[in-house]
Amino acid sequence: MREKILVTGGAGFLGSHLCERLLATGQDVLCVDNFLTSSRENITHLTKNPCFEILRHDVTFPLYVEVEKIYNLACPASPIHYQNDPVQTIKTSVHGAINMLGLAKRLKARILQASTSEVYGDPKVHPQTENYWGHVNPIGTRSCYDEGKRCAETLFFDYWRQHNLQIKVVRIFNTFGPRMHPNDGRVVSNFIVQALKNEDITIYGDGQQTRSFCYVDDLIDVMMLMMNSSADFTGPINIGNPGEFTILELANHVLKLTRSKSKLVFKPLPTDDPKNRQPDISMVKSKLGWAPKVCLEDGLKETIDYFKRIL
Ligand code: NAD
Ligand code: UDP
Repeated sequence: MREKILVTGGAGFLGSHLCERLLATGQDVLCVDNFLTSSRENITHLTKNPCFEILRHDVTFPLYVEVEKIYNLACPASPIHYQNDPVQTIKTSVHGAINMLGLAKRLKARILQASTSEVYGDPKVHPQTENYWGHVNPIGTRSCYDEGKRCAETLFFDYWRQHNLQIKVVRIFNTFGPRMHPNDGRVVSNFIVQALKNEDITIYGDGQQTRSFCYVDDLIDVMMLMMNSSADFTGPINIGNPGEFTILELANHVLKLTRSKSKLVFKPLPTDDPKNRQPDISMVKSKLGWAPKVCLEDGLKETIDYFKRIL
């Protein structure tokens, strides 16, 4: 069935891939973005498609459009960007959620929230399961993002209980791939750009902290599966790749694949940087029959090729 689908944050890294995939399945896509952390280049290749529309808009203000489904992705995701204007980050998560939920309520539209593994904070449970309530500093420098996203989840579940809205909440773990911004500050893009320029690779702390990295194509598959899953399944659901690596291991993979001469340099660890992160994906496997297909090395090769083209 052909539907009109709103993607907020649609010009961003994940949003641009999602818009592309929705168009490929024959949907009409309305991309809403204020271009805070993205560039138009991510979506210029889509603008020739008559089913694609772009609206420059900040989701902290109300939006009046007519659509059948909403993917709410608008929010800076890189620590450097979301800490640059923390008040705006919270507003984007909280006012943005209220505005998009209000829109969904008026339209009786199904709405999916791009939540995050950051709702678990610096977790005391490993790997993280959906029923873990997390270990989050409410007043630290990461809190604008973590607590903003937690509040957005609360709003989604209150609209579901109070107004019977059809909601879907996915908790996304670190995802990487082409169209990450080269100056985005996240670890995969930083290491690849540094390696390709033969500049020092900046390891924060001792590099023993871990992350689990999912390739973007896998993530978009499961986001769309979740949106189209049965109405009574709300989540929250972890989506990501459970393959866990230390940051040092990641740096060495990047060095090997780029054949770079870069050296590793150690910098101070940012405050509240989580020590370990790995999704337990049992729920998504059993409920949606999904598991990631792309391993870290193959995903890195695609991403390295992308950065070679744009640098
Ligand atoms: P991104 O920064 O590339 O994309 C975010 C997009 O939202 C950008 O295009 C930005 O301009 C837009 N935006 C920001 N504030 C806005 C506002 N007030 N109004 C309208 N647009 C606004 O980041 P991404 O990696 O594509 O992340 C997309 C979503 O997924 C975010 O909500 C993020 O929290 C979530 N997420 C991503 C990851 C990941 O690893 N990529 C992990 C967990 C959660
Ligand atoms: N990191 C690093 N060097 C960099 C960028 C990040 O060592 O140049 C580390 C960061 O301290 C964290 C991990 O890599 O431990 C992942 O950071 P990122 O900003 O990608 O995402 P996070 O999972 O922390 O939100």
